[in-house]
Amino acid sequence: MRTLLTLLVCASSLVAQSYIIDQTANGSPGTGRTEAGEMQPQRVWIAPRMLKIAETEGDGVASIVRLDIGKLYLQFPKHKLFKVRDLADLTNKQERAALREDLRQKILAMAALSEGDQDVLLAENGLRRDGTTVAELKRLGRRRDIATHPTEGVEIYENGIKLATLWIADLPRPDSLFGAYTAISSFSDEVEAELRAIEGFPLEMELRLDSGERMSFTLKAEASGVSGGVDIPLTEFEIPADYSQIGWDTPLPSDAQVCDICGNEVPAGERQFRGAWVCSGPCKLKHIKAMAGSGE
Ligand SMILES: [Zn+2]
Repeated sequence: MRTLLTLLVCASSLVAQSYIIDQTANGSPGTGRTEAGEMQPQRVWIAPRMLKIAETEGDGVASIVRLDIGKLYLQFPKHKLFKVRDLADLTNKQERAALREDLRQKILAMAALSEGDQDVLLAENGLRRDGTTVAELKRLGRRRDIATHPTEGVEIYENGIKLATLWIADLPRPDSLFGAYTAISSFSDEVEAELRAIEGFPLEMELRLDSGERMSFTLKAEASGVSGGVDIPLTEFEIPADYSQIGWDTPLPSDAQVCDICGNEVPAGERQFRGAWVCSGPCKLKHIKAMAGSGE
C-alpha cells in the first residue's frame, strides 16, 4: 500500500513539476549573453530533466537542455538549422579548479607579502589558505512578490564571493532548472550542493556562470508569468524533422543578399550589378545574357 501511494505521489508530482515561464533575461545556455547584454523576453518550458529557453522576439533562437540524454541543442527557426553538443564537453570544472589551485599556490609563494596580506589577496580571489571550498547560503530575510507569487531572497557564496542571488517561490522545482546551469557551468561541488538543497522555485536569479567558452557572465532572469502543472508535449524539447544540423562553431548563414540568378549568397561588400544581385562572374555573365535576350 505504501508503495502504491508513493507511486501515485510521484506520478502527480511529475505533472506538477512542469512549467511554462515568461521571463526577461540577458542570456541563455549555449548562446551566452544576449548581443547587447540587455534583458530580452524569453519563454521557458521546464519539465523533469528537460528545459527549453526561446527568444520570443527576433529570430526565436532556442536552447534546449536535455539532461536525460546529456545534450545541449541550439535551434534556429529562421534558418531551420540546429547545433548540438554533449553537455559533458561544456563543463570546465577541472580546468577552473586547476586554475584556482595554481593561483592559490602563487599567492602563498609571494614571500614579499606578509601572511595577513596573502590572506587578503586569497580572500579577494575567493580562495582559502588551506585550498578548501566553503559554500554558504545566506537568507536575506526579505520577501517580494514576483509574478503574483511571494518569494524569499537568498544568496549563495563560495569562499566569501557571491555567486548567486535568488528569489525563491514556494513551488516544486524540477531538477532540470538548476541542472541545466550546473551542467554547462563550472560551479564547485560545494556550490552545486547548496543550489540543490534550496527548496522552491527561483522566479528571479542572478547567477555568475563561469564556463569558459564565451559563457562567462552573470545571467540575470526575471519571471513575469508562471504557469505550473502544464502538460508539455515531448516534441517541445525535440528538433523538428525538417531542420538540418550544422557544426557547433559553424556561423549561421548571414542575412546577406541572395543572388538573383542562382540563389546563392552574394559575398559581403558586393554591390548590385546592372540592377541585379549576382554572386559570381558566371552569374554576372548569365545576367548580361538575360538582359541582352530580353532586349534591354
Ligand atoms: Zn549566382
